[in-house]
Amino acid sequence: MVIIGAGECGGRAALTLRDLGFDGPVTLVGDEPHLPYERPPLSKEAMTSEAPLIKAIASDELLGERSIRHIHSVRAVAIDRAAHLVRLSDGSSLAYDKLLLATGSVPRKLPMPGLGGRCVYLRTFNDALAIRAHLKPENRVAIIGGGFIGLELAASARKLGATVAVLEAQPRILMRGVPAEIAEVIHKAHEAEGAKVLTGQGITAIADDGTRVRITLADGQEIVADFAVIGIGAVPVTALAAEAGLAIDNGIAVDGNLRSADPDVFAAGDCCSFPLAVYGGRRVRLEAWRNAQEQGALAAKNMLGANEAHAAVPWFWSDQYGLTLQIAGLSDEGRSTVRRDLDDGAFILFHLAEDGRLVAASGIGPGNAVARDIRLAEMLIAKRAMPAPEALGSQSVKLKSLLAA
Ligand SMILES: Cc1cc2nc3c(=O)[nH]c(=O)nc-3n(C[C@H](O)[C@H](O)[C@H](O)COP(=O)(O)OP(=O)(O)OC[C@H]3O[C@@H](n4cnc5c(N)ncnc54)[C@H](O)[C@@H]3O)c2cc1C
Repeated sequence: MVIIGAGECGGRAALTLRDLGFDGPVTLVGDEPHLPYERPPLSKEAMTSEAPLIKAIASDELLGERSIRHIHSVRAVAIDRAAHLVRLSDGSSLAYDKLLLATGSVPRKLPMPGLGGRCVYLRTFNDALAIRAHLKPENRVAIIGGGFIGLELAASARKLGATVAVLEAQPRILMRGVPAEIAEVIHKAHEAEGAKVLTGQGITAIADDGTRVRITLADGQEIVADFAVIGIGAVPVTALAAEAGLAIDNGIAVDGNLRSADPDVFAAGDCCSFPLAVYGGRRVRLEAWRNAQEQGALAAKNMLGANEAHAAVPWFWSDQYGLTLQIAGLSDEGRSTVRRDLDDGAFILFHLAEDGRLVAASGIGPGNAVARDIRLAEMLIAKRAMPAPEALGSQSVKLKSLLAA
């Protein structure tokens, strides 16, 4: 069993192979110099904690105990599917019976001239270390892109006292997948914490002279910063698969069992697109921590011949200041929305399809305020339930009772 990509998904897949009793060779190949580690803290605790924090998914000892060979700092550069061989950047090759591609995604590049060493991206622990060094009260940071990573980083930067400007070209932050009502709560939280959030303004020029970055917006306004972090989305890492002749469709295209057209090659996590059973087989690619874990585990099972289809409901969270946002399902499948108010200003929006089916739930509130109800909503979505909108909207009706019904 060979796994390319030693991230959330690859790491989980390797451990699951052992959990399931597989006792043949398992090799995990990663191009980063670290043990498999969690990425979500990189924009959150890893930025603000005193010591730089790398949260390993598996320690060296654990990998040793489970006889998982971890080859780090080495890239897989080619797959010879006919020979069942993976060629590595150090010149060596690995033979496989089953291969899992868990190559993840990388930040989308801002296609503009003028970017220099003070314009950076955040994906890896090393990126996080470099950004952390700049997050000081005397520094001004421009965050290009009002998506999750940019906004979480903005919150961390404010916590450390830096001056923050978030620049979003769209009319509002979090345009993709987050309802306007929730985005507004987050926007206000940033402003209340002293971050400047400028929306609806494209960037017309960037000049990075090595000491500071000057960003010109469409209305002529100039933002001067000591450094800029670009967070305008991510793209799946597919070149290796494409060069091996595998189909690419917004990610490495796999079936519901996470298998490519080659029965011995699987793909999972951020790098793959797959048919999502709960939405009638709609092909999606998810960039979410829990999905990477679930798919890593499922791919391992299927590499061992289980033939099991991915059936999970997508789930995502984001932490900014004291607020936690959680989304279950795909809100763009909804045609109408019902609001349920909870305690402490928290609320959940339930998204219903035309036929009344619950297809998603998005919630925001302090700490864990929405966690329980989002979990119940997730179960309702999985059951393809059609709860009465009045019941969803009423705090006096327990969601658990709808589940039982
Ligand atoms: C800063 C940040 C914050 C996040 N916060 C959240 C959050 O709050 N909630 C949430 O749900 N999700 C969050 N995510 C998303 C989540 O971390 C990802 O969905 C998850 O890491 C995907 O796991 P993966 O294993 O598919 O890919 P990755 O974790 O990207 O791992 C892929 C690995 O493969 C390596 N690789 C690629 N190509 C090759 C090759 N040819 N040879 C060898 N190695 C290769 C890559 O370098 C990488 O190490 C966050 C992501 C980031 C970057």
